[in-house]
Amino acid sequence: MNLRILWMYHDLMDLYGDKGNIQVLKTRCEKRNIEVTVDTCTINEVRDITSYDLFFLGGGADREQNLIYQDLLKRRDQIREAMDQKTAFLLICGGYQLFGRYYKDQDGVELPGLNFFDYYTEAADRDHRCIGNIAVNVTIGTESFDAVGFENHGGQTKNVFNPFARVLKGHGNSYDSGFEGFMNDQVIATYMHGPLLPKNPKIADIVLKRALSRRYDIRELSELDDTIENKARDVMLRRLGVIS
Ligand code: GLN
Repeated sequence: MNLRILWMYHDLMDLYGDKGNIQVLKTRCEKRNIEVTVDTCTINEVRDITSYDLFFLGGGADREQNLIYQDLLKRRDQIREAMDQKTAFLLICGGYQLFGRYYKDQDGVELPGLNFFDYYTEAADRDHRCIGNIAVNVTIGTESFDAVGFENHGGQTKNVFNPFARVLKGHGNSYDSGFEGFMNDQVIATYMHGPLLPKNPKIADIVLKRALSRRYDIRELSELDDTIENKARDVMLRRLGVIS
């Protein structure tokens, strides 16, 4: 069994340790004897997006989003095709925003998004920037668990019909929306940097299962010992007053 990961704009979209997500995915595969290939892809580079099991795009400030969005839009048909062929997607913050209708920055400049989903994002005034540690509750299928991350975005994402999580502490999609991210059967999109996966191994395994099931009949992944990861997550949940 092998997993093919495409890491988009690794050199530009990588805020607050987003690259750590790739490291976690690799390590969790290696521990299970699953081979992993990670290919990077930046502006003007030729890659067949449809040949990957997982598409990962990290976050970036307005400047980086400005640099990459045209290249991303040129790849729209291929990304659509990858979606049709059951590729899994993990999108963080600036990457999440660009899969919606548009992102409008504080000066009113609007970047068109890929327009795959109905949500759109507009920058808040300075007083409503969403910054800090965040705790959420995720429910996927029969599983429900708490997760932690770090957010820093001016963008307020509205019109999200299928959020990824419910906010316990922090902001999420907008200053007081109460919900975080976007999710469907293939896509997990979130404002949570930190990076997301090291302290949230359950999310890592959900992403892995989705990606592997594109080509393999995968029901369950073998259990790993996540004692340390869970302890690290609980430190933050305790600090935020979510658990005692
Ligand atoms: N530029 C976007 C915003 O501030 C995204 C920031 C990020 O990826 N952390 O909303």
